Amino acid sequence: MLFSELPLANPLQRAIRAVGYETPTPIQEQSIPSLLEGKDLLGIAQTGTGKTAAFALPILQLLLVSGKFRAPKTCRALILLPTRELAIQVEECFKQYAQFTAISSTCIFGGVGDASQKNCLVRGVDVLVATPGRLLDLIGQKAVSLKALEFFVLDEADRMLDMGFIHDIRKVVALLPQKRQNLFFSATMPDDITKLAATILRPNPVRVEVAPQSTPIERIRQELYRIDKRRKGALLKELLQEHPEMKKVLVFSRTKHGADKIVRVLEKAGVKCAAIHGNKSQTRRQEALKNFKDEKIRVLVATDIAARGIDVDDVSHVFNYDLPDVPETFVHRIGRTARAGKDGIAISFCAPDEEQDLRAIEKLTRIRIPEGDKAIFEKLPPPQKETPESEMRNARGRRFPRREKQAQNSKPAQTPPKAPKQQPQKPAQSVQQARPEHNSEQPQKADFHKHRRNRPGSKARRRMRELSNSNG
Ligand code: AMP
Repeated sequence: MLFSELPLANPLQRAIRAVGYETPTPIQEQSIPSLLEGKDLLGIAQTGTGKTAAFALPILQLLLVSGKFRAPKTCRALILLPTRELAIQVEECFKQYAQFTAISSTCIFGGVGDASQKNCLVRGVDVLVATPGRLLDLIGQKAVSLKALEFFVLDEADRMLDMGFIHDIRKVVALLPQKRQNLFFSATMPDDITKLAATILRPNPVRVEVAPQSTPIERIRQELYRIDKRRKGALLKELLQEHPEMKKVLVFSRTKHGADKIVRVLEKAGVKCAAIHGNKSQTRRQEALKNFKDEKIRVLVATDIAARGIDVDDVSHVFNYDLPDVPETFVHRIGRTARAGKDGIAISFCAPDEEQDLRAIEKLTRIRIPEGDKAIFEKLPPPQKETPESEMRNARGRRFPRREKQAQNSKPAQTPPKAPKQQPQKPAQSVQQARPEHNSEQPQKADFHKHRRNRPGSKARRRMRELSNSNG
């Protein structure tokens, strides 16, 4: 099937051609005709399957032909999403698909001032893309009402629940008019999601389930560099200098501080780059992301949490500057390259104390990562001898070599409390199958360790004191 065969109005067909789509993806092929008939839809699909166009195009078509107009402080279609990054992306898609129509759209999310968002709503908007908290806030302020709503889309429902939005969703649903068309998307359908869907959708919705369009991990060319932590920056700089074909490079750092440090090293070397992580303001993050998408900067350095949910096409290279301690995260990271049938390259740096993480990654992916060209090491400064201090601050930012830490942990009387378990993750046979990670607002394992290390009476600190005393 071709897009041109779908009963979509000319301005939409033109936009589809402008964005370069020819054939609908499976979810688009299965959803668009039923949605155009006004049916409710339950879609089990992840980001990357083309689900945004699957709901955006039929909604735009129906808005176009309905003959109705938006009223002040109302919206005709509401798309509810869990994060601002996703909300911005989805609204960008609506803008692209509606570029040859008079249909308006806007995006509202928390973490920024609400004045300009309220302004956009004064005259009413056709498509409102929102995160739940800010939507309820603006409804409370009477900046927008849902009374004229015709289409309701709940996207990423499972992540919404993971992030604790269930009460907000219930509040929003209670404000919706009875007569409306509903679309409900979730990557997984556990019981609580099925129950939630039943409270939103009309009986017997069309059910569409698509396998994620996975990036076969085999299609990603991988390289491994075994390198001490101190020379990782120099290696990254050298590789970028040697390979001008590395045009759109995503670098993953375990920590926010580490991400900033990488940016400083690269900027000094004249590489255009920026970092996105939790300490950056929303405006700075959006700016960095936009510059990266528009190829105004060559390198985007991100923490796993900040990179979650961002969809950047055509990433040519992914660098694992630090290896993640959750192997599924590695699969998720490298899946940022080799998208949409393109080839991609993932380069991983492994410091001596990351060997254990490397083994876990290789075991999960069942791939032995080949080592990169060792000639590059000749261009790097020689490795520096480890001092007791540098040993304490080893490659993972841990102040202990792993062996000492394990030995300590094995003393039963002093065993510290266990770190909270990560969300269970599905075994990742394909990149997209790795579950999206948890809410950025929630503490992560690394943060837990950091917190534990920094407690005044922690063993790490005591050990630090002992070591520094013994070194005079
Ligand atoms: P989504 O799952 O909606 O986030 O889409 C993932 C990516 O696929 C986005 O970059 C879309 O622009 C792209 N895309 C969506 N539909 C198509 C299509 N029919 N042909 C080619 N690319 C598409």
